[in-house]
Amino acid sequence: MPLTDTHCHLEAEALAGDLAQVARHAVKQGVGRLVAVGVSPQAFAAQREAMDAVRAGGLPVLAAFGTHPWWADRVDPETAIEALDGLWSDDTGPEARERPMVAVGEVGLDFAVDIDADRQNALFVAQLDWAGAHGLPLILHERKSADRLLYWLRRHRHVGGVVHGFVGSVQQAEQFIEQGFFIGVGGAVTHPGAHRVRRMLRQLPLEALVLETDAPNQPGHAHRGERNLPGYLPENLDALARLRGVDADELALVLEGNVRRLFGLTEECHGT
Ligand SMILES: [Zn+2]
Repeated sequence: MPLTDTHCHLEAEALAGDLAQVARHAVKQGVGRLVAVGVSPQAFAAQREAMDAVRAGGLPVLAAFGTHPWWADRVDPETAIEALDGLWSDDTGPEARERPMVAVGEVGLDFAVDIDADRQNALFVAQLDWAGAHGLPLILHERKSADRLLYWLRRHRHVGGVVHGFVGSVQQAEQFIEQGFFIGVGGAVTHPGAHRVRRMLRQLPLEALVLETDAPNQPGHAHRGERNLPGYLPENLDALARLRGVDADELALVLEGNVRRLFGLTEECHGT
């Protein structure tokens, strides 16, 4: 069962120059598809170029575009929405053969950084509304902001998505799941010392989990201090399978079913 990496930043500098190689490595490791997530309108063109380079390496890629909360002090909600509108109506990119984007992200709130909370909220809610209007799920960034995110999501009950790289409490995870969200399992699951995260991941329903790397960020235990790669995704699968005491291949089947539900994909839709 080829795995889907539901979260990577392909235009990141740490991956520049050898994306075709990165793609071939991932395919060899059993990764069958990536979801490239956006960070700001200024980087969307570079993201699409990087996606093409990965496709040239033989790995299908689906697109998510959005403005990350770290850009809330530099990108107005209007600019973020104009960029999404532009991509939505652009049918020239290879991803347009299926859909211009399968999700809005990476968006959210980060109250661990010194960026004005009002600006973050305005940027997030504008993109949340846009996602709702276009029937797209969200790829959420959550840091010390679960309660506020849940507040907004409860007012937009028809919008689902995934909380990426979630390392909060079981109770918070359950509230996101109740709102129709999946929980993204990244490299944290491989760290033997990450007791709280591992305890949370032991308790959540498998039907609510999807895999991700967040490459080139957040490397797993075996790659501490290195850049993270989509090809390391199976290490997260194996760690989760051991944690849950289940067979990795059977777990992969469940998790890939979750990916299809999350992004509304059909069996044939493997990206371009
Ligand atoms: Zn990310």
